[in-house]
Amino acid sequence: MYFDSTILFMIPGLLLGLWAQYKVKSAFSKYSKYATRSGVTAERAVARILQQNGAGDVQITRVSGSLTDHYDPTTNTLRLSDSVYGSPSIAALGVAAHEAGHALQKAQNYPFLSLRSVMVPVVNIGSNLSWPIFLAGIIFSWEPLMYAGIIAFALVVLFSLITLPVEFDASRRAVALLNNGGFLTMEEEAGVKKVLNAAALTYVASFVSALLQLMRLLTILNRNRD
Ligand SMILES: [Zn+2]
Repeated sequence: MYFDSTILFMIPGLLLGLWAQYKVKSAFSKYSKYATRSGVTAERAVARILQQNGAGDVQITRVSGSLTDHYDPTTNTLRLSDSVYGSPSIAALGVAAHEAGHALQKAQNYPFLSLRSVMVPVVNIGSNLSWPIFLAGIIFSWEPLMYAGIIAFALVVLFSLITLPVEFDASRRAVALLNNGGFLTMEEEAGVKKVLNAAALTYVASFVSALLQLMRLLTILNRNRD
């Protein structure tokens, strides 16, 4: 049985990803237990925030699942999960305000968000076809095909790199928006930051995994040349 040692490249990314997920879940469940002193529910807080910041046209709806909260720029809709919508907890306000941060990025044409949106269709194709193209290149011993697979995957890496400023910026905005709106005490702000930093770590983990996978492809390419 042939053992491809380059699979070991995937381990650090996998471990970092698991650790990040654990951090998000534990921070979220911890700060879900504490309501903010303002007592405002997450969807009301973000509705007010968006209104005050000139983005009152954003739709706010509920979505099933846990940590499924997201902002959809194509429909200008902010979807809050069951554990966020209707909750006045520190975690719920943090997550909802982060998504409101994305809505404001869209409203203000934040360049990295625009770039990210443009890349989505290309990256979807790239992530689905990069490995099949690359493997076909190995099977037929045809280098240009291997390069094409690598370029397709490099787009995936670039996309997850561009995601980082988008996510960090949304979290930075979230804290500022909640503070400006008078929704948080200083203690509560620390809780919001813990939840959002843990969430940011999952995006760092995705980027690291993608980068390591690219290195794996390059290593296989080099080995095939020998
Ligand atoms: Zn986000």
